[in-house]
Amino acid sequence: MKKIILATMMFGMFLASCTKNSQQEAFKYSVDTFYDVEILRYKVPGFEQLSLQQKKLCYYLSEAALSGMDILFDQNGAYNLRIRTALEGLYVNYQGDKKAEEFLALERYLKRVWFSNGIHHHYGADKFLPEFSQEWFVAACEQCGVTYDEAILPVMFDPTVLAKKINQTAGEDLILTSACNYYEGVTQKEAQAYYDAHKDKSAQPLWIGLNSKLVKKDGKVVEETYKVGGLYGEALEKVNFWLEKAKEVAENDQQKTVIQKLIDFNATGDLKTFNEYCIAWVQDLDSRVDFVNGFTETYGDPLGVTAAWESMVNFKDLEATQRAQLIAENAQWFEDNSPTDKRFKKENVTGVSAKVITAVILSGDCYPATPIGINLPNANWIRKEYGSKSVTIDNITDAYNAVANESGFAEEFMLPEIIDAYKKNGTRCSSLHTDLHECAGHGSGKLLDGVSKDALKEYSATIEETRADLFGLYFMADKKMIELGLLETPDDYKSYYYQQMMNGLLTQLVRIEPGKDLEQSHMRNRQLIALWVLKNAKNNEVEVIQQDGNYFVKINDYEGLQKLYGELLATIQRITSEGDYQAAKDLVEEYAVKINPEWHKNILERYAHLNLAPYKGFVNPVYTPVLDKNGEITDIQVDYTEGYVEQHLRYSKDYSFLTKK
Ligand code: ZN
Repeated sequence: MKKIILATMMFGMFLASCTKNSQQEAFKYSVDTFYDVEILRYKVPGFEQLSLQQKKLCYYLSEAALSGMDILFDQNGAYNLRIRTALEGLYVNYQGDKKAEEFLALERYLKRVWFSNGIHHHYGADKFLPEFSQEWFVAACEQCGVTYDEAILPVMFDPTVLAKKINQTAGEDLILTSACNYYEGVTQKEAQAYYDAHKDKSAQPLWIGLNSKLVKKDGKVVEETYKVGGLYGEALEKVNFWLEKAKEVAENDQQKTVIQKLIDFNATGDLKTFNEYCIAWVQDLDSRVDFVNGFTETYGDPLGVTAAWESMVNFKDLEATQRAQLIAENAQWFEDNSPTDKRFKKENVTGVSAKVITAVILSGDCYPATPIGINLPNANWIRKEYGSKSVTIDNITDAYNAVANESGFAEEFMLPEIIDAYKKNGTRCSSLHTDLHECAGHGSGKLLDGVSKDALKEYSATIEETRADLFGLYFMADKKMIELGLLETPDDYKSYYYQQMMNGLLTQLVRIEPGKDLEQSHMRNRQLIALWVLKNAKNNEVEVIQQDGNYFVKINDYEGLQKLYGELLATIQRITSEGDYQAAKDLVEEYAVKINPEWHKNILERYAHLNLAPYKGFVNPVYTPVLDKNGEITDIQVDYTEGYVEQHLRYSKDYSFLTKK
């Protein structure tokens, strides 16, 4: 409760917010830059217009979001929290020259640790090393009276120790070679045997392993469950404290049920309760304020079973929601007209809800790097029986676009003939593609009877993202878009096709170090699509050309390109529906992993000249309750002025429930 300030102290706040208003036109999106990262701010337009009850709900859910953030840090690596605490201790208590190279290197490293929620690159998964020496660190800690666990030293400084967060190299023991903290003392074979033996084969299966760490105890593999009183209990208890408050100001009974189910799940770790929570959540369509809070996405587990903790609080953007709604309403039309085999189509595409949201707070796996669209829940049987909720996050996209427009990126990497079209339609097309991907793509198609949802194993994430992306790409060029009023002219989609090919083949490589492979599912899926299309373009529909020694994508036949996207979509849908593991493996290994070193080198050189950061992340706004003299909340104020370092130090001070102070 330390953030609540009294009304008698409000005068200063009021002045601060006046100043803020007068500066509103000069809202500064860019906050900080380090290594390959740029930190941005995002606006929360419409927050002031919410009712007091909705604002309180947002506030309590935001506190619940921040209370769980350290869970992800620990899931990403067993030493992460100890390392962060030591680094912050030294950073705050440092008594030497703060302009010295070592101190600046400490600051850069700490910023990167915050950004990655650990010591491995948030996207590439490789460990990054400090630019200060172990000797300097040890001596500086001693001088400044900072104590730490010596076990962190090799983890920080020895490049061979815990080198990769997630290893996806086929043939190796993915668990033993991954640094993430979902398993302890267990081999991949043992973990897989455990999951196979405990698999729930009922019609409404429990997601065994979703919320637990597998550990070896007395020679036996057992689950340590994430729950109050169990693993991460101290954080989950605080999450529940704020959820209780949120429940009191819920907008309706359905939302109250959702929050209560989540409280129960956090308290017990019971997976049946989790299923009930997911079903209640997906059925809550009327509330303006909504949230994700808990163990959600499984990309961080090399076996794709256990989920990372994340949270995002948001409210519906009523106007923009109509756009996405239109796509959702036409989901059956898309399904019927998609180029996939009839056997793999859903007869009834149900409950694809769609809305555009304004993010209020980001936490855990959504922070500082954040998605621009979400489609949940992840359990296929719930999606099939109850539908799913799809959202695109407009205020985050707006922030991205605001900084991208003036970067010089388009001028460097696009052929001149496409730049104007890209600047005119780029933003709208990418929102539309996100809507199609989330609202229609993921919900489309079906598995044949008897095919397990995890038949594609380690390739499932890449294949699923490929499927949803292709679905969006294919239909963007359809005249249905114009019929629905989503695009204006039959040419509007073209700059997006160009962008997809350019990004998938060339420009996304700016995120990868020379000599490395593609690891991340979304990057793999983008290259899979673009490279497959390039190699199968028999009529020169698209090519990579060289001009003055630089590589460019050139598209010669846009309609032909749509056909190729459609062809690949049909293949990917077949692989998904039949659970064809071998075909998935062949496609991913052939098109999605290896990088063309010559293109890569050229792109990196050109990119370096632009001086841009390939990754973006965010700082959150600060929400402060205004109290009257009886201690009642009369308003929630939003402030956008907090810096990146300040924010993380404050979060560590106020929300570190998993570290001993
Ligand atoms: Zn997706």
